[in-house]
Amino acid sequence: MSANIDLSAAGVVTTQNLYDFAVIGGGIVGLSAAMALSRNYPDARILVLEKESDWAPHQTGHNSGVIHSGIYYKPGSLKAKFSRDGNISLVDFCQKHGIDYEICGKIIVATEPEEIRLLENLYQRGLANELKVEKITAEEVKEIEPHVSCLTAIRVPSTGIVSYKQVCQKYAELVKINGGELRLNTKVKKIVSSDRTQILETNQGSFHANFIVNCAGLQSDRVAKLSQVNPQVQIVPFRGEYYELTPEKRYLVKHLIYPVPNPNFPFLGVHFTRMIDGNIHAGPNAVLSLKREGYRKTDIDLRDAAEVFTYAGFWKLAAKYAGVGIEEMIRSFSKAAFVKSLQRLIPEVQAQDLVPSHAGVRAQALTNDGKLVDDFLLVKGQNTLHVCNAPSPAATASLAIGEAIALQIAEQLQD
Ligand SMILES: Cc1cc2nc3c(=O)[nH]c(=O)nc-3n(C[C@H](O)[C@H](O)[C@H](O)COP(=O)(O)OP(=O)(O)OC[C@H]3O[C@@H](n4cnc5c(N)ncnc54)[C@H](O)[C@@H]3O)c2cc1C
Repeated sequence: MSANIDLSAAGVVTTQNLYDFAVIGGGIVGLSAAMALSRNYPDARILVLEKESDWAPHQTGHNSGVIHSGIYYKPGSLKAKFSRDGNISLVDFCQKHGIDYEICGKIIVATEPEEIRLLENLYQRGLANELKVEKITAEEVKEIEPHVSCLTAIRVPSTGIVSYKQVCQKYAELVKINGGELRLNTKVKKIVSSDRTQILETNQGSFHANFIVNCAGLQSDRVAKLSQVNPQVQIVPFRGEYYELTPEKRYLVKHLIYPVPNPNFPFLGVHFTRMIDGNIHAGPNAVLSLKREGYRKTDIDLRDAAEVFTYAGFWKLAAKYAGVGIEEMIRSFSKAAFVKSLQRLIPEVQAQDLVPSHAGVRAQALTNDGKLVDDFLLVKGQNTLHVCNAPSPAATASLAIGEAIALQIAEQLQD
């Protein structure tokens, strides 16, 4: 898309304290959206506001670092399309900007007879999503991952690894080069709509903007409400905890090893991931977090917890999947249970081979009737756009999502 939108016709006036676009959130989605806007509207004044002291401090900076292929997602969904397109453009981006990455491929392994049918479904889904996927035998798996024991597997060659923190540093740099203004330590607390602009009140003063893009991740539903938009979903935080293999045991994992996921959930099951820095991470699990930005098991925020427990959607979800929720809790508190899940993939891995590592918290949108929103969700407002569900693989898909946000904004400005 080129900058063929007449901003003045759309009511955009450029003065010193007025921005054409204000992006709330300096995670990978916000920075990518700002980058796309700065490319498509080279004369526009763009502001990015991030409440923490660094870019990508929450979901983006705590993820697995996997460049997903797009195999898991429903054909025709935004996730499927953006993940496939985003994978290709992210690899190009890393090459162009000298960011370390590796396309090492991944295997998804069936370890129980009942998983074979689910694995076949996944293979068909991969084909439907136009991906290169290969069925491989247990013997062929041994050639790729000598320590894995399974019945059968599929290999997805286009999966890779990268540091998303590093990717974000580059996105931020490019927004700045394109003339954007980036502000850390700036939390949006209130949004006031006036005649033609909107005022973002922050801990660092007020900013006026003609158009607001909400990319606030774990806080996105709240930020939407600040601008009088009801996203019809609530963010429920699910913490993902990781262990890592001790350096002497890293030889157990060569690439990326995943189980067959439970098709009812958007999470992939605990797996082994080789990180771009050479570490091998095992996880993440998926436990309800009592704090949206809480990385320790003991973290509780009364407002966050109360919002979960007073939300009808949460209880409908809990009633349906109580068993899975309890299993996840057990796996969170019992290292033995965590290790047992991992031993399904690599039987020789032992508790002493694993040490606790970081955790991340996923922002998962949940509807009032208890459905986990599966696809990416963009909600339109009056001169606002709210990204209200951007779970995995949004890091992989970030360049495609950024472009889609810019395109959506162009449509809204023409309305
Ligand atoms: C454990 C885990 C593993 C994952 N693994 C992968 C993976 O391997 N590959 C992959 O593609 N995806 C993965 N994901 C998903 C991916 O990380 C997220 O989808 C993506 O990072 C979402 O980016 P975001 O910019 O929407 O959110 P975030 O990165 O959370 O950014 C939102 C930002 O908004 C800021 N903010 C919030 N409120 C305000 C406010 N009021 N004012 C100013 N700023 C505000 C926050 O501080 C934050 O920095 C994983 C996620 C998790 C949690």
